[in-house]
Amino acid sequence: MIHELLTIGSLTALAAVLILNYRQRGTCKQSEAEIDGWKLRLENDLKQARDERNLLLDALGDAFLLVDSEANIRFANEAARALFGHRELLNRPVREAFLDPRLADALLRCLATGEPVQSRVVLPQQTSPRGDLETRGVNAWIIDAAQLSNPSGAHHTTRVIIRDVTAEHQIEQVRKDFVANASHELRTPLAIINGYLENLLDDDMVEEPDLARRFLTVMRKHSDRISRIVEDMLVISRLESGEANALKIEPFKFRSCIKDILERLESMIRNQHAEMTVTMPDPALVMQGDRFYWTQVLFNLVENALKQNPYPGLRVEIGCEAAGEQIRIWVADNGVGIPSADLPHIFRRFFRVEKHHSQQEIKGTGLGLSIVKRAIEAHGGNIGVTSVPGSETKFLITVPREMP
Ligand code: ADP
Repeated sequence: MIHELLTIGSLTALAAVLILNYRQRGTCKQSEAEIDGWKLRLENDLKQARDERNLLLDALGDAFLLVDSEANIRFANEAARALFGHRELLNRPVREAFLDPRLADALLRCLATGEPVQSRVVLPQQTSPRGDLETRGVNAWIIDAAQLSNPSGAHHTTRVIIRDVTAEHQIEQVRKDFVANASHELRTPLAIINGYLENLLDDDMVEEPDLARRFLTVMRKHSDRISRIVEDMLVISRLESGEANALKIEPFKFRSCIKDILERLESMIRNQHAEMTVTMPDPALVMQGDRFYWTQVLFNLVENALKQNPYPGLRVEIGCEAAGEQIRIWVADNGVGIPSADLPHIFRRFFRVEKHHSQQEIKGTGLGLSIVKRAIEAHGGNIGVTSVPGSETKFLITVPREMP
């Protein structure tokens, strides 16, 4: 890159020297026409070298700028022009071109000190360098600026690379949130267990068998919860690892998954007097996929419908049908439903419409639907939800018949 710039510089210098030589040497018999020919050829070479340089710099995925010592932009590659919405950049001061001063600051620091600067800038969506609205929450950029060495030492050129690291930033953020939420969720049952342990040991309650048994029962409930959270987190991590062997793909009858989960949830269904319906036009329908995860998907969805509606009159429908190259699976209930404001967040890890931290009532881990979503996506499918509280809450899955 720098080499290219030097090539252009060298060609220009060479042209100047040659023309000067021809003019100065009185003995030289070459005609004006010959000199013009030289000039033309050198200009062509110069243009070609410049075009090649531009082509090379335009091929870079990152935005690349050259800025002179007066902080004016002297060159911008295609990625930079696109980043700034194809506004006029050449010969404009950096402060004017970079609508957000936080982006310009890193670069101006490099210009002022001559020291290389690498700076990560995270901006809310409305202040991307273009100054327009992005659909994402934040944009993250790495500004990398350094002066190019200049033998004459008079006017320095600074090269600036702007790299969009929004995707990496978002992944990092999701990880951080996951660890923070997981720690929070594990801390609550651990604190409860520790509290009971203290009572048993320090206050000598072990001597009172009835009380001790009651305490131990509560402790077991909370340690079960910890196990479930850890188990769920491991499932998510396995699904997210993208390992080829995370799924065991084989043909299986979806009907057998339904049968399994209805057996596992039998006592809950009976206690709640829930009415269960299975809609499957082709009971012999065969799916390709990991039967273990599909059973878990169905189990989580049906368990949610039951868990969220411990009232009489609950009707739950499980459906599965082929639709061309796709298979559609749904679980619908007529229960309390999900408020529309919560619907966009429902598949987020640890999200619960209402958080229940009371000792008496331990609800789910808030990880069930994120496992459901990830398991379906690992099979190349997707899931959506619609909810009219009290009328119908429906989770609809679409998945390709054949795994790619
Ligand atoms: P949990 O382990 O708490 O059930 P999920 O990820 O499975 O976590 O579900 C997230 C939240 O979505 C639940 O806490 C509940 O508030 C809501 N939800 C899920 N399914 C239903 C449903 N069928 N009816 C009403 N609310 C539901």
